[in-house]
Formats: sequence, C-alpha cells, structure tokens
Amino acid sequence: MRWLGSRSGNKRSQSLRLERLIAKIWVSALNGFLKFLLIVEASKQWKSGPFPAITYSKPRVAVPITHSRLYGAPFVPAQQNGSNRGGGGVQYVLERNLERNSGSGDPNDGWIAANMITQARPIIPSLPVLNPTAYRIAEVYMFDTCTHKCGYCWLAESGQVLDFAQLEPFRSLVFIDKIASFFLSRTTPGTKWLLHLTGGEPLIAPNLDRLALPLFAAEHRIAFSTALFVGRNHPGFRFLLEHSYPQVDHIMASFHPEAELDVAGYFEKIRMLKDAGHKVFVRFVGQPQRLDRMPELSDRCRDLDVCFYPTTLMSENYPRAYTEEQKHLLRAQFSSLSQHIQIEGGLDTTGLLCHGGSRVISVNLQTGNITPCATVKTPSLGNIFEDRLELRAAPIRCPQPGINCLCDIHFQRNIVVSADDRVWFERQRNGFTPPEDFQPQLAAMRQNGVRFYGNTTAGIGGVADDMRPFYTIDEIRENYRKNHGLPRTELARTDLRELPGVVQQIRPAGAQAQIRPGTPTRIVTPVGRWSYAAALPLAVPSDMSAEAWVRIRTRVLRGEGGFGVLNRSGTAFQDRSFVAAGTEIRTIFLQIADTADVQSLIIQNSTLDGQAAEILLEDVTVLAPPGH
Ligand code: SF4
Ligand code: SF4
Repeated sequence: MRWLGSRSGNKRSQSLRLERLIAKIWVSALNGFLKFLLIVEASKQWKSGPFPAITYSKPRVAVPITHSRLYGAPFVPAQQNGSNRGGGGVQYVLERNLERNSGSGDPNDGWIAANMITQARPIIPSLPVLNPTAYRIAEVYMFDTCTHKCGYCWLAESGQVLDFAQLEPFRSLVFIDKIASFFLSRTTPGTKWLLHLTGGEPLIAPNLDRLALPLFAAEHRIAFSTALFVGRNHPGFRFLLEHSYPQVDHIMASFHPEAELDVAGYFEKIRMLKDAGHKVFVRFVGQPQRLDRMPELSDRCRDLDVCFYPTTLMSENYPRAYTEEQKHLLRAQFSSLSQHIQIEGGLDTTGLLCHGGSRVISVNLQTGNITPCATVKTPSLGNIFEDRLELRAAPIRCPQPGINCLCDIHFQRNIVVSADDRVWFERQRNGFTPPEDFQPQLAAMRQNGVRFYGNTTAGIGGVADDMRPFYTIDEIRENYRKNHGLPRTELARTDLRELPGVVQQIRPAGAQAQIRPGTPTRIVTPVGRWSYAAALPLAVPSDMSAEAWVRIRTRVLRGEGGFGVLNRSGTAFQDRSFVAAGTEIRTIFLQIADTADVQSLIIQNSTLDGQAAEILLEDVTVLAPPGH
C-alpha cells in the first residue's frame, strides 16, 4: 500500500488504475481456480455419499463453535445472537478463536485450545451448495424408565422400567442445557447432529422441548425410538404433534404386546403423527406367537402409508430358535437389508470395519459415557458431562471382536462398511414399502467377505422367558423392590396367622455388636459394612408346605440396617431388605421360600460408609397360612 501512495499526478493515477486492473485479473483468476478445486472435491464427495470426508490436518473451514458459551455468556442459540449462521459467520468465529488462542491468558482460550487440540475434533469441509448436510448420529440412551412392561425386555423383567429416579436429572435446566450445548458446540456448517433418542421411553423425558428447540434452531435433528404408550395429551406426544420432519427425522414406533390391548388407539396415534408430517415406522418385534398378526398390521400401515417394520426377536434364544416357517413369515414382510441382517443373527464383529466413533457415537445420559456405538462398551471416547469428545478420523476395526453387530441404525446409516442400507431405509422412511427379496444382496455381502454371526442367538435381552407377552405390574414392582434391596412393606394376602414359638432368643452375631434386650431391643452394629450384629434363630417346621413370612417391626436410629433370612449352611440369604434411619417404626416382610433350609434372621450393618448402625427392634414374628 505504501508504494502506491508515493506516486503523484495523472500519470500516477493511470498507473494506479492499471495496477488495480492487473490485481483484479489475478484475484479473479485465483478465485476461479479455487472454485474449480472446490467443485472437483465436492463432486468426489457427492459420489462417495452424503457424509463428507473428514480431514484432520487442514483447518481450512471454520471450527465448529456455534453459540456464545465460548464467551462465558449463558446459553444462546447461534441464530439468536446472529453471530455465526452460514459460512461467513462461522469464519468470523474462527478468526476470533484464533485470536483468543494467541496466549492472551483469557480462561476461554484454554477451553478453545482444548477443543481444537486435545479433542482433535475433525474439521469437516463445508460445501454448502453441492454437498447435502451430513448428519453425525448420536445414539442417546436417556434412561431405563418406561411405560411398558414387555415380556422380552430385561428392563421390564428386572423392574428397572419403574426407576423414575432416573428422570430426576432431566428436571434440571442446567443438565438439559449442558446436553444441548455439548452438541451445539461440536458442529460445522456442513455437518449436523442427529440425536436418536432411546431408552426406556424417551417421550416421558422432562423438558424435552428445552433440549430439542435449541438443536432444531441450529438445524440439528432428533429421531425417536418410542412405544407411543403415552396419552395424546402427554407433553411428549404433544411435542411430536408440534414438531415433525425434518426437525424430527423419523419416529420408530414399536407396536409392543401391550399395544394389542388398544389397537385402534395405537393406530389413531400413528395417523395423528402421519398427518402432522412425520415419517413413521411401525416396528413389530417378531415373537413367534405374534407372527400371525403381521398381515393385518401391514394392511393398517399400507392404509396410513407408513412403514411396517417387523424385526427379529433378539434374545438368548432367538433368532436361532425360529423354525424355518417362522423365518419365512418374517422375511416375507421385510423391506430392507437391515431386517434381513438381523434375522441372520447380525454381523460377526471380528475384523469388521465401521465408522463407529466418527459417523456415529453412543451417549449414555445416566453416566455421560460416550462409546463408538451402542453395542460396544469400550473404548470411551469422552463424557458429555465433562464436555469431552475424541472423535475418530477414519473407519475402525470393531473394538469388540467376536460379538454380533446387529443394531439396524448402523446399517440404515451406512456405519458398517459393506452393509449399506441407506437406499431401502430412505424408501421406508417415506412411507409404506412393499416387502422385497434380499437374498441377492446377502449373497453379495458374503462374497465381499462379510461374515454373519455364527451363533445365531442375539445374546441380548437376558430375560428368563422370552415368550411372555408382558409382565404384570405386581411382578415388576416386586422385581424392582428386590433389585434395589427395598423392603417389602405389605403382603398381598391378609389371612396369615402367627406361628408361635418359631422366633428364638436374640443373640450376638458379631464380636463388637451391642445388644440391649427390652421392648424395643436396642442393637448397635459393629463398624464395617455388612458386618453381622445379631441373629434370631428361626425354628420353622421343616415339613411346612406353605409359604412363610418373617414380619419385622423396626426403627433405625442411625445408619442403615440389613435384615436377611439366612440358609442353614450360612452361605446365602433367601430374602433380604434394608431399612435406612428414619423417625417412624417400619414394618417389613421377608419371605421364607424354603422352610426346610432356614437357619435364622440376621441383622447386619448395611450403612454405605461402614459407620455403625443403631437399630431399635420392636418385634419379629413368623406368619403362615391358617392350618400350619
Ligand atoms: S422393550 Fe418394552 S419395556 Fe423395554 S424399554 Fe422398550 S417399550 Fe419399554
Ligand atoms: S462393528 Fe458394529 S458393533 Fe462394532 S463398533 Fe462398529 S457399529 Fe459397533
């Protein structure tokens, strides 16, 4: 600039114009060349599919910073502060980032540096005109809590579906904003997130809109795996009526056995969702005794123009235990490659290449842990609550060889190399899709060296009886109580009578225990969790054929007391409960399942930190049906 300013007069201005002209020609030639390069690269990526290549080494397009969190301000979606929509806005943020990384000592510099360097976040080329937006999938496991009680589901069998405490964190707006912020701050113009919410029942998540709206505003998407077992006025269902495609990418709505109690009501919800503009799948788990329902369900789906999506029952026994006829019935309804891969038992993960950790991640919102996909438990790629994520740059070999890769999302989204189901998934997403024979595609996969899982049990589910339609509420309540060590506070029957003389004199069961007999008897347990304090021998008639129960009335003054029915050999408890300190006398019941193998009622210290527990024992009684 300075040498231009040193000239004078007409000659000088003519020279100036000439120089400017030459400079313009150069700039325009350079621009043309750069555009040519971009078009060539865009064409290559267009051919290789909608997910653009990942480049770590050339930070030529903006770093994914999309909201004001960087500047220490409260959460504000990008377009609300108007700073960084589109390439120009993001470029501006990038420049500021680079400035702020120049060692100014600003605490935000550390955060930015951590994202740019230690997280090694991929820099994804942005080609907004020629390249469609690519969606990186986050399989988001919300919680175990669910409104259903499916017979083939371990969450139901164990009672975990009743664990409503898992919803509690979602009531905190800080918690919700942290999740949204995690994804918003890891975005580029050409690459967005698609959060596939699952559980449990994701529609019952408190503050669903608070989580979703900032993501929608920044053009991210959400998909749902749901059983739709919520009322039409439930906030989760209303949310779906108000937000449809493309914000909600699709709804995988399972028609579980309990839905059969109100088929019309279930399909009315499907119709409402379809009318609201959703892309809906009606998923149907192929329990053998339900297979004859498929033609009718398929007809209903065809009428509503939504995809009928039967899937393989995946359990300890299935798909191996299907008869050929049952397999034929299922295959005759399949309309995608994913469904066929699943009935083959999935893909053998030994040596299997996939884009886990780059095109897909799995996030557990109970722990925050992030893994390459929902199937594998390691390696950890970060933690959402620690704001850490280390994406992979290239395909990986499955980190868990010898198991089966069978999550359909991985095929539908072209995550697993050589198992690309995008075309058929897209058809299904758009409406009812007629069944199709996929044997040629399966044969081609085998020819390409893809191995299906040899052991055709899915190895998931883990339920004792995968043929049950669903559990009763009493069964899952009882299992929840057992699994959480909660005391049983009532019995289903009222005709039980006291068995006199069965409960013997209390005696110490640990060297440091203190027992002061009386009404109530005061017990101070030894220090140390699980240490025994007292035993009350139980002289139950060994020829009793009926059930018997120990009723305990107690109040725990400090710590937590454990109460258990010990077997004769002293190696196991037939039943056990724990009572925490409180102000009221509690009544609990322990079951004596085997009256021939019972020794005593044990009272022990179950305080978490091992401090001594102090227990007031009001009375202990053994109950049995009349006539014993
Ligand atoms: S399988 Fe059934 S019980 Fe289990 S999480 Fe899904 S809807 Fe709930
Ligand atoms: S091969 Fe399948 S199971 Fe293994 S990491 Fe990839 S997607 Fe997950």
